[in-house]
Amino acid sequence: MGQALSSGSSQESELFNAVQVGDFETVEALLKREPNLVHHKTLYDRQSALHIAAANDQIEILAMLLEKSVNPDVVNRHKQTPLMLAAMHGKISCVKKLVEAGANILRFDSLHGRTCLHYAAYYGHSDCLQAILSAARSSPVAVSWGYARFVNIRDARGATPLHLAARQRRPGCVHILLDNGALVCASTGGYGCPGSTPLHLAARGGSLDCIRKLLAWGADRLQRDASGRIPYVVALKFKHRACAALLNPSSAEPLVWPAPLKFISELNEEAKSLLEQALMEANREREKNILKGTAYSLPSPSDSDSGLDDSISEASDTEVCCICFEQICTMEVQDCGHQMCAQCTLSLCCHNKPNPTNASLTPPVCPFCRSTIGRLVVAKIKTYDDADHDIGDVSSSKLRKLRKSRTFSEGSSSFKSLSAVGSFSKMSSRGSDRIAAENEWIDKP
Ligand SMILES: [Zn+2]
Ligand SMILES: [Zn+2]
Repeated sequence: MGQALSSGSSQESELFNAVQVGDFETVEALLKREPNLVHHKTLYDRQSALHIAAANDQIEILAMLLEKSVNPDVVNRHKQTPLMLAAMHGKISCVKKLVEAGANILRFDSLHGRTCLHYAAYYGHSDCLQAILSAARSSPVAVSWGYARFVNIRDARGATPLHLAARQRRPGCVHILLDNGALVCASTGGYGCPGSTPLHLAARGGSLDCIRKLLAWGADRLQRDASGRIPYVVALKFKHRACAALLNPSSAEPLVWPAPLKFISELNEEAKSLLEQALMEANREREKNILKGTAYSLPSPSDSDSGLDDSISEASDTEVCCICFEQICTMEVQDCGHQMCAQCTLSLCCHNKPNPTNASLTPPVCPFCRSTIGRLVVAKIKTYDDADHDIGDVSSSKLRKLRKSRTFSEGSSSFKSLSAVGSFSKMSSRGSDRIAAENEWIDKP
């Protein structure tokens, strides 16, 4: 009997080892011999084979286990599901597979009352965060909870995923969350300093990128936490001087992602990222002055773009914006077809300060023909011949003159950065290594 027991536990550890290293054949053979092993858990942490597979990115084994109808929401000692571990370790294919298999995205662990969305945000895995959010849109969660509520889901201490991403310096996740309706001014209950907003936590973490994004989405520099501190004071306390400079209420207001753009029903991804680029670019210009005194040198914007030369030569065939006469037209208003640059589009609807009292926002109108902007798309590169038909009478003569002089030198630098579409690059997931510490099958990041 005793022999049988010990052989059982050695089979168990053989299984867990095989799952961890991805030895598919051994796992298959072991489960064939002893099908019940699939329900065994590690002694202390109560990890199942599915947990180990998810945390170690063993997608084939994970799929095999799920096919054997293992419950995708099996929990370990801390009530963590395999999906939470996959999100924590940034194993995107496992996240997708588990979601596909019906894993519940609305489970809370017993450590901090966090969901898989909290884990992805905390550890900065943008791809996993995005996958969970996409799942939330199409799952029963959206119906029962509402999508917006899920994005702003709180842990046991009142922290939303945005609070955690801001605190942990994860600008990629901050961006995705804001883009999906995360509340920029929500206060925590007990997490961090009570009453902290994402901006307080970013000030504490010291991430300039997170602060930039939060400000651009309308975070309030004057909002106080429970002890009456504004984010500026928090940044000073933790000696993040550059962050403090941006958060200083007496420094220039950053441009804020304009609320009227929400009225534009179809703003495709490409157009949106052009506008976001333009917004961040404009804010970077303001920052230069603010940061002058802080001995903080700004990194030059997107440099290693190999396709740069192409876009410049293409640029010579495009139109100069008829509003600023500096930038190239990159945005096209529909249905009228009028074009302007991304920065002028922004300033059409930009406001410097979030103003929640001003509820009567009106949709932006085309500055050339006064029609309501229904759609914004990225302007197609035009040839000279067909460009004339699209430009209004007043501006066409000016434009012809401009075309002759064609002074792109000034605008070209900002065009370069504008053309870097989609450079809200995913945070490179830090290769969380598999740590096979003695009897541990799952590392704790
Ligand atoms: Zn312009
Ligand atoms: Zn128009």
